[in-house]
This record gives sequence, C-alpha cells and structure tokens, in this order.
Amino acid sequence: MAVYRTKAKAMQRSSLTLAMAFLVSGAMAQAQQADLNAPVLVLLNGKILTMDGQSRIAEAVAIRDGRFLAVGDNTTIRSLAASGTRTIDLGGKTVVPGLIDTHAHFKAAGMSDYVVNMSRARTVADALEAIKQFAAKKKPGEWIIGSAWHPPSQLAEKRYLTRQEIDSVAPNNPVYLRTVGHFSMANTLALARAGVEKGTPDPGGGHFERDASGELTGVLVETAIDHVEKAVPEWTAADESRQFTIAQGVLNSYGITSVVEGATAARDIATLQRIAASGQSTLRVGLMFRPEPPAENSAWEAIIRGNGTSSGFGDDWLKLAGIKIFYDGGMTLRTALMRDAYPDSHDDYHGIAQQSPERLKELVSICNRLDWRVGVHVVGDRGIDQVLDAFEAADREKSIRDRRFILIHASLILPEQMERAKRLGLRVDFQNVFMWDKAATVERFLGKAVADRAVPTRTLIEKLGIDSLGAGSDFPVNPINPFLDIYIMVTRKDPNDHVYGATEAISREQALRLYTSAASHYMFDEDKKGSIEPGKLADLAVLSADPMTVPENQIKDIKADLTVVGGKVVFQR
Ligand SMILES: [Zn+2]
Repeated sequence: MAVYRTKAKAMQRSSLTLAMAFLVSGAMAQAQQADLNAPVLVLLNGKILTMDGQSRIAEAVAIRDGRFLAVGDNTTIRSLAASGTRTIDLGGKTVVPGLIDTHAHFKAAGMSDYVVNMSRARTVADALEAIKQFAAKKKPGEWIIGSAWHPPSQLAEKRYLTRQEIDSVAPNNPVYLRTVGHFSMANTLALARAGVEKGTPDPGGGHFERDASGELTGVLVETAIDHVEKAVPEWTAADESRQFTIAQGVLNSYGITSVVEGATAARDIATLQRIAASGQSTLRVGLMFRPEPPAENSAWEAIIRGNGTSSGFGDDWLKLAGIKIFYDGGMTLRTALMRDAYPDSHDDYHGIAQQSPERLKELVSICNRLDWRVGVHVVGDRGIDQVLDAFEAADREKSIRDRRFILIHASLILPEQMERAKRLGLRVDFQNVFMWDKAATVERFLGKAVADRAVPTRTLIEKLGIDSLGAGSDFPVNPINPFLDIYIMVTRKDPNDHVYGATEAISREQALRLYTSAASHYMFDEDKKGSIEPGKLADLAVLSADPMTVPENQIKDIKADLTVVGGKVVFQR
C-alpha cells in the first residue's frame, strides 16, 4: 500500500493528471500476476465525489486491506478485479467519502429500548402519552428514564412537565426526564427515591423549583439535577454494549462512518473499547473525555494526569481526541453568555457561565501542561471572549498553536474573535442544525439580528480556512441527518422557510467538505480520511441522490443507500 500511496501523491502533484484516470500505474500488472494483490471489493459505474484537493470526480473505486487501492474510470478499475473480487454496480449513483460528524452524543441513537423517546412530543399531552406507553411495558417500581429533550422549544406550552402531571400517567414508577442540559424533571416517586422532599434545602448553584405554596414541582435546575441523577441506577455492561452497537448502526444508516463523541464519560470509553476489541466497531470514534471538574486544582490535575495517555492515544477505530470542558449555556436555552444583556432582561442578564474565567484558565492550563488538547463548549460572544483569553494564557505557558484546540459550537462567534482563533491555530466545530426547529427560539431569546449572525459559516471559512472547521449535529439535541445540516448550511432556512442570515450561506461543496475533508482534521486524520484517494481508509457512502445537483429543497431528503467502513459494507438500504 505504501508504494501505491507514494505514487498517487506524486501523481497528484503533477499538473498533467487527467480528471478521471488517476489510477496508480503498475497496480494493474500486479493484480494480474496474483489474485493476492487483487481488490476484495470494487464499485463501478458511479459518480464518485472524491473530495480530494482537486475535487476530482471518478467512476469507480477498488478496495483492499480496508483501504482504497485505486480510484479511476470503469475500465481501469474493472481490470483490477480477480475471481475473488466482489463487484458492486453503482448504477450511476453518487458516492461520497464516509461522513464525519464532529460533535454528537451518539449513544442516544441506541437507546430506544431503554428510554422514553421525548423528541417527538409537541404538546404536554404528547409527552405524557409517550411516558404512559413506555410505563405500560415496565414493572411497578422500575425506573423510567426519558431521552434528552427541550420542552420550552418543543412543546406548544413552552414549559417543563410537573411532577403531578408525570404522576398522572406513571404513578407506580420513578420517572426521571433529562433535557438537553441545565434542567431535569422528576415525578414524586423519583424525588422520594433520591431523598428530596419539601424541606430539602436548595444546593449551591441550583434549585428545586417550587410552586406558590412551596411544594416541589419536580423541575430540577442546574446542580439540583445531580441530587436525583445520583439515585438513577446505572445500566449493566451488556446493556451499554448493546446501546452503542445499535447506535453505531443508526449512524451508519446516514452514511456516517466517523464521529467525535462530544462529552464522553469514562464508562462509555470502556464500553467502546470492548466493542472495538471484539471487532464489532462499524464507526470510528474520537473521544472528548469529559471529567466533571472538581473544586481543587490538584484533583483536576490527578484526573488529567490519569494513566499517562493524552490526546491522540488510540487507533483508527477509537482515539482520544481531547478533554471536554463546559463553559456557558446555549442560545436555544437563554443561557449563552453574551456581551450585551438579553433583550427582555430587566436585571442586566447576560447568560450563564459554569465557572469563573480564572477557573477556566486553570483547568485549561493544567490540561495543556499534561499534553492534552482542550475543547470548550462555548456559545455566546462573551463566553467566547473568555475562552479565547484562557487559550491565549495557556499558549503563553506552552504553545497550543499546532494542537488544534477547539471552540465547540461557538455559534455566536464574531469576526474579530475568528482572527484571535486563527492566531491560536484553533478549530471551530459548529452545528448549523441548531438553526432548524430551534431558530425561532433563538430569535425569541436574542432577537432577529443575533439569530441572523448565528453559526456564521461563510465568514468562518473566510477567516479560518475550511480545514480548521467541521460540522456536526450535537445529536440528540438536533437530528443526526447530515443532509439536513448540509441543506441548512446551503439555504440558511428553518422548517417554515424563514431564512436566517442569507449572506452566511455556503456552497454545496463547502458544506460537504465540512462533513468530510475538513472534518478529518479534527482527529489529525487528514492523511487517512475525508477523501476517496488511494491509501486512505475505505470509508464511503453511496447516496440516493447527488447532493451537488439535486434540487435545493431535496438535499435534506438524501439518504445513504449503502455505507462502507474499512472496506466492509456496514449498511445497505
Ligand atoms: Zn454537545
């Protein structure tokens, strides 16, 4: 493979190469000499968007040893096949490199047997009906857990459920409903199991919501969440393996072959390692390890020092990407930390930070000293100011410039902040899909002008260069479908065809690169992934339609018909 790769590189550098026939010379002769050198799989008669440096389009591809062996026209690729080669006729379909979602919490895709799916509820009545149906399958006393959701933007009533409402549909089970962050809901039995009662004092940094008569409503805010969370039983190891195995299959069904897990718990790393070790991986995973920062620096340092590993440790299936730290809240939650007070604020409210700027500097500095890359969840423009300050302080102690520290989301980043990010060699990994069904919520909380400048994709590309950027979903906060996100990047439209910030729209090719070639840089894998070129990992998706030419409003309906990871078919519609 090394030989092919070197030759392919050399050919790329030549300005004489043809648009189609960039097959490695010599490969053909070798293949005829021995089937041993023949591809195990060839795909013929397609429109292969290689996403290489020249945006070349090919007809066919050959795969061996989990990597692309050759890419070119039908005649040359067909001639490589031997008796043992499996051939797939693409029938003219479009092929793209395996898609890379640079920020998702993908285990959620494997939880349908384990948690109530709250994402479809549009009214309080819908939500209660979903809980009621799930409870019917459970024994009395068994915990019922909800999938992460966002009642204020999802429900017509724009509010959380109360304990009494949940009791009305599941009186005999403890019920605990997580949201996308900062709030949870518990029914009476769940509060009782957690030892929370009317007289329980509010913890620092959070509270148990109470009604006018002082009774608990069951809504838990910030640190109050932990009090009930602790009482929820953990899944068994077998359950967790099954959850992740189902989840990777769901992502494969969207053409996704790599993902960055956005905030990984130690238990989840262990589960993913078990799956990889047993040869069951069908999705390449980058891990943003997320320890909860303890109060003491020394305790944080002990966690980060860990067993001596740091970012980059792992292999092509499972690799440590960095340490994830949360800073502010979210633009869809009215908690993004903003320079300006919120429009409807009567108390000079600017949003929420989870720790002080000084504390953030300490956390980042310790990670940096121990060779860990850091990615910080940050959304609001004041939050971004403070994360940039922390990154600059760390950089003065020990350079971070070649290590691709990450602003995660950075939805409301401003042009001058992009310039600071550029000087620090940062990445920005964003999710335009926040401006889908939640766009109106952003507008309500922050005003139209801010909603229009949210996720400024075109400006980011201009200021940082596309390879320092990546797109993703933040699933399950948003839908996982990459083609919905690509549609939004191209159109800036919400579900009602309202356009937010038309000047920030980008081209279809740029949007696809944010899911392929640009995204591969997140894990320093640009020589291995993100394009269809000889020597790279054989990850690809065959699509139901061509994202470059399909009518614009149909981009979001594109599906993966076939997904290949490491040369193996892992999904077929
Ligand atoms: Zn996230």
